[in-house]
Amino acid sequence: MKENILHNLEIINNRIKTACEKSERNVDDVKLLLATKTVSAERIKIALENGHTLIAENKVQELREKHDDLKSISHQNHFIGHLQTNKIKDILNCDVSCLQSLDRFELAMKLHQKLFAEGKTMDVLIQVNTSDEESKFGIHPDSAIDLVIKVSKFQTLKIKGLMTIGLFSAETEKVRPCFKILKNLQQKIIQQKIPNVEMKELSMGMSSDLETAIEEGATIVRVGTAVFGARIYPDSYYWHENKK
Ligand SMILES: *Cc1c(COP(=O)(O)O)cnc(C)c1O
Repeated sequence: MKENILHNLEIINNRIKTACEKSERNVDDVKLLLATKTVSAERIKIALENGHTLIAENKVQELREKHDDLKSISHQNHFIGHLQTNKIKDILNCDVSCLQSLDRFELAMKLHQKLFAEGKTMDVLIQVNTSDEESKFGIHPDSAIDLVIKVSKFQTLKIKGLMTIGLFSAETEKVRPCFKILKNLQQKIIQQKIPNVEMKELSMGMSSDLETAIEEGATIVRVGTAVFGARIYPDSYYWHENKK
């Protein structure tokens, strides 16, 4: 088990390196985030103990279940799933440093209130639905800039960039337009010079399409399957849950 995970990590790091060379990018500008949904704390530890420090969960329940087991090992927690406002306290209690899935004003407002009361701040990425799939979370690209402007007014929220889950397709060339939409949005937002907004991070690309994402400017690639193996639950369980 350990050998597998470490071997897979090595392969992923090589893929990232090769993709960076191909697009003449600095390998230090692309971070590897391990998407750990359904992965046991024991297996996550193997990666953390070998120098991989950035992990993320999709569901609050899993985050809470693994938190105690992992907190003794230094690492950074992001959150990449749909977040209900009544679970905000949990991501604060579990030391999430960045919410990558901020996709609506109501969530930003409630998160701000909670952070403000506790005297804390949090990094956030705005999640954009670039694939036009009704079932996926994320703000529509046409409304994204407006949301960024509104969220920027909350001093506890530090906007660092954008996140997207691309089109679910085995053909990477079909996913590329999604990544381009995110990159274009980033450029537009940078031009607007909105106070309290940084637009450095583009979180996009997963196990099957990280090379394409890096070519299109990804600074964070989120990898699960290619490191930890296939999951029993389909991704729809995490991405297409009932929208409110
Ligand atoms: C599961 C997941 C990933 C990783 O997907 P893999 O195909 O397993 O690499 C990335 N981003 C999000 C939001 C996820 O839920």
